[in-house]
Formats: sequence, structure tokens, C-alpha cells
Amino acid sequence: MISSPRKDGELDGPQEVHLILLDNGRTQAYHDNELRKTLQCIRCGACMNHCPVYTRIGGHAYGTVYPGPIGKIISPHLMGIDSTQNLITASSMCGACEEVCPVRIPIPSLLQRLRQESKHNAEPNHDPLNGQNAAHNTLEIAAMKGFVFAATHPTFYHAGLNAARKMNGILPEHLGNWTQCRVKPKLAKTSLKAKLAKRQGGK
Ligand code: SF4
Repeated sequence: MISSPRKDGELDGPQEVHLILLDNGRTQAYHDNELRKTLQCIRCGACMNHCPVYTRIGGHAYGTVYPGPIGKIISPHLMGIDSTQNLITASSMCGACEEVCPVRIPIPSLLQRLRQESKHNAEPNHDPLNGQNAAHNTLEIAAMKGFVFAATHPTFYHAGLNAARKMNGILPEHLGNWTQCRVKPKLAKTSLKAKLAKRQGGK
């Protein structure tokens, strides 16, 4: 595809050839056994066309050159995790991208790894990406730990849900940025479980 400069006696061809290779973070990806797989991409676009997020919002909606699910794992190398952390979280992790990828790039597990690294420092055997740990948020981490505790202790979970149901009316309507373009969801007055129990009891 690339010819040499014109040789002595040749009538056609360039007088000089300059070949410029742009690395753009690819060497960093290549040195990592897992992230190296991102470089197998042949840019067929299948992952983007099957992704439940990108089929609705379009390929370039997040402002990066590489669109779609593959863009989510390549862009952090080009631009650093700190400026691409919204990309790696915009995924339902349904796995459709990996299923349709002709070169079987494990996009969901690589996304998972990048999510981890956006919050915590890399494993000792991984080279740190630019901006690693940039999304570390003590409040969010504490909230998620609280949720994990509640979700693994049913009594505590149901007591919390009942209390939230009772407080439906007194909780603020606006919950920061989250409600800027959404309506705050309201918990039903009676849970489905309670409704079913009542129905079965009534039979
Ligand atoms: S489906 Fe695979 S090869 Fe095709 S664009 Fe996506 S990651 Fe690249």
C-alpha cells in the first residue's frame, strides 16, 4: 500500500516518502496483556449497532473520535480515564457487544476493569493509565457500601424500604443533577409482595 520513493530511472512516484506513526496511547494498551485486545478492532461497527445504549443515542454522542462500545475502552488510553470516565459507566453491561464482535474483544470485562481503575489505583502489575483514580469519590463509595450492606441483610432492606415509603411525601422533589431532566421516582404505597400476600390471603 505504501510505495518507496521513486528510484533512479523511474518516471512516476514520489520523490520522498515520510511515514508518520501516531501512537496515541496504543503502546500503553499493547503493554497490558488484557487491554492489548482492544487493538484487534477492525472497526466493523457491529458492537455499536447492537448496543442498547448506542443504537438510541448515536455513535458520536459522547464527543470522542472512536464511537460505540469499543470507543469506551480505547478512548481512556487516548485521553486518560479522568476525561472519559462517563464513557466507561454508560453501559448496561448486557454483553451484546462481545457477542457480535467478529474478533471477540471482551468489551464488558475490559469496561469493568477500567471502571475499577477510575476509582482505585491499578493492580501493582498494571501500568497506571493517565488519570487513574480520578473518579474516586468517598461519598459515593460509602453510599455503595451502605447499599451492599442493606441488599445483603433482608430485614434491614425491607425496614429501609418501608421507611422510604412512609417518607415519600417529605423527601425533596429535586435530587441534584439527577433530577435535572428526570422526575424523581416514587415508591408505591404498598409493595408488590404485600399486594400478592393480601390477594392470596383473600382467596
Ligand atoms: S464489533 Fe469488535 S471489531 Fe467491530 S467495531 Fe466493535 S470492537 Fe471493533
